[in-house]
Amino acid sequence: MGKICTSFDEVTRGYNKVRGELIVLGVLWNGSKLDGVECYYEALNPIGLIGWMGFYNFNDRNIHFPAVYNGLALDFRWYDKNSALDVMRHEFGHALSDRYPGALKKGGVFRTAFGGPCCDKPAPGTNPEDWEERCVTPYAATKTQEDFAETFMLFVKHKGKIPVKFAKKPAIRKKWKAVAEIVKHVAAAKR
Ligand SMILES: [Zn+2]
Repeated sequence: MGKICTSFDEVTRGYNKVRGELIVLGVLWNGSKLDGVECYYEALNPIGLIGWMGFYNFNDRNIHFPAVYNGLALDFRWYDKNSALDVMRHEFGHALSDRYPGALKKGGVFRTAFGGPCCDKPAPGTNPEDWEERCVTPYAATKTQEDFAETFMLFVKHKGKIPVKFAKKPAIRKKWKAVAEIVKHVAAAKR
């Protein structure tokens, strides 16, 4: 794919819209950990490499959205120009797993569905080339943390209702249910 440009307004609209979706799901509320996640528009970022900083182990735990992204950008390489919103949902997935690690571990829900801990490696014993029956996108198969972010992206986009083409695949259905459970755990922190 070629170079893709985003505008400040597009990213701002996306940030606000996705925050609204997360409020409806119950995982974002006034003063909550996800409420504290900021989004920076990187006008001068030349390669568009940065998405969610948390998993790079830097201290910055916010979303960095490059003005220009291209084939080098890890979290952005799979998307087309109409999907700034999906990128935003994906990055909030990283934000949630990074800021609520306890919600993922509770009852072993993450590990059971995603085949390993939430980390920068694919699930043990899986081949990233062979993804279609068990992951929502090819990128999801590269690392368990990306598998979560991609599944979360679609969960948010579809307001928790699984599309039929994914419901037919038991491994994906299991991950979708795990995301629903994790969302419930996070929402419970409000009370
Ligand atoms: Zn990612």
